[in-house]
Amino acid sequence: LGSVYVALIHYPVYDRKRLPITTSIKGIDLHDISRTCKTYGVKAYYVVQPLESQHTLAKRISEYWQDGPGGQFNANRKEALELLRVTKTIEEMERRIIEEEGQEPIYISTDGRSLPWSQPFEKVRENILRSDRPFVILLGTGDGLDEAILKETDIFLEPIQPKAEFNHLSVRSAAAIILDRLLADRE
Ligand code: SAM
Repeated sequence: LGSVYVALIHYPVYDRKRLPITTSIKGIDLHDISRTCKTYGVKAYYVVQPLESQHTLAKRISEYWQDGPGGQFNANRKEALELLRVTKTIEEMERRIIEEEGQEPIYISTDGRSLPWSQPFEKVRENILRSDRPFVILLGTGDGLDEAILKETDIFLEPIQPKAEFNHLSVRSAAAIILDRLLADRE
């Protein structure tokens, strides 16, 4: 098993009309997904956000819990948020991962829709557990990851509940289900 990273992408994603946009950072995504990442042994939680002004919010939240009064008040929140890293682009994230791991990561993209090349959870789990390469699980915001990402990534994961009539999970719930299916300890 190599290292597993999670990346929450704010650009390029779609808006409701499927036009490419940059979404804003939401505090709840930082808190909740970092806790899930920490629980499942994820090495770092990257938030990819091209707008510098948006980084301030992430930094303020992170600093409050890391160095400010928050860490004493809630130590496990501090521990989870230690995983958080903010970059402007996927390329910048990739450079940092390569620096740390000494090899290129394998990208796994996720979406609520099926595509002909979707891979089942079990197969992707096996792949991760047997490999010594780093993996990055890409999660979308807004109305989901740009199709170019879904086409270009090494692995496109099958959706959770593909036949559900209502398929609009929050990214936080999707992150928890995906990490559990891919990384949960089994007897
Ligand atoms: N505005 C929403 C929010 O507040 O959470 C963001 C929705 S965003 C499109 C949801 C992301 O969660 C998707 O881009 C994908 O990464 C993941 N996701 C949602 N439903 C999924 C499903 N059925 N299977 C796999 N991943 C899913």
